[in-house]
Amino acid sequence: MKQIFDPTDMSRWSQQRRSGGSRIGFVPTMGYLHRGHTSLMDIARERCDSLVVSIFVNPLQFGPGEDLDLYPRDPEGDVARCRAHGVDLLFMPARLYPPGFETTVQVGRLTRGLCGATRPGHFPGVTTVVARLLGLVAPHVAVFGEKDYQQLMVIRRMVADLAMNVEILAGPLVREPDGLAMSSRNRYLSHSARSRALSLSRALFAMRDAKSDDPEHLKSLGMSILDVDKLDYLEIVNERTLQPIGSLAAPARAMVAAWVDGTRLIDNVSLPPSTPIGQVS
Ligand code: AMP
Repeated sequence: MKQIFDPTDMSRWSQQRRSGGSRIGFVPTMGYLHRGHTSLMDIARERCDSLVVSIFVNPLQFGPGEDLDLYPRDPEGDVARCRAHGVDLLFMPARLYPPGFETTVQVGRLTRGLCGATRPGHFPGVTTVVARLLGLVAPHVAVFGEKDYQQLMVIRRMVADLAMNVEILAGPLVREPDGLAMSSRNRYLSHSARSRALSLSRALFAMRDAKSDDPEHLKSLGMSILDVDKLDYLEIVNERTLQPIGSLAAPARAMVAAWVDGTRLIDNVSLPPSTPIGQVS
């Protein structure tokens, strides 16, 4: 496995591979890799000849007072995990943005609600870094996790709107055996905080399994299960538009973001569509 630290070298490597006819797959990450990340590598590996993973903790997507300086790091473990999952090139830039950098890529409506409402500046930071990474790595296919469902939809919108020549694939959300969504931030959780963090997935699973088509009823059910210090949102949204919905006729997702013991956690599940009247399920 090759490692590259300089953006210009990254770009050169990709252009050489592309001109040699190689199909490039790409998984961007912020490191401290876990099974959620490696599942995306496995999806990409099957669809490309050259697999690139990037590790870059992107300052642009952290707000003031967020955990940029504390964000967990494990470069040696990350290298080993990438090797074990057939990564050809690990891109770990110390600096990603060129001197004089002053461009922001910003998606509109999809970024206004949910995490966009409580983390202003987060999505412009994400789309800007992903646009630059896609420019440098020039992949044919890039894989993003449904763990960050709003991010996935925002990136798909950006890629379509700006005619970026890359296929975006979604990887399913990977959970711990007890249901907790895997996240690099889980390492911040003490034993007792972790058991309260489990209330996010419990609430979402209860909402999914309740067989009700009334979003308000489902939200109250979820609220009764959540055991968190602060709730940023618990919403049921249209799976494509991310707008809150009044009934479960269209494909929908239950989305949650909440704080437990100083750690912000997010999770989501797909909700089964309600059965139209007259149809036997
Ligand atoms: P991050 O390192 O948190 O920026 O995540 C990098 C990529 O891994 C993003 O596309 C995330 O959605 C994805 N990811 C993180 N955790 C999970 C998980 N538990 N299941 C699936 N994908 C994940």
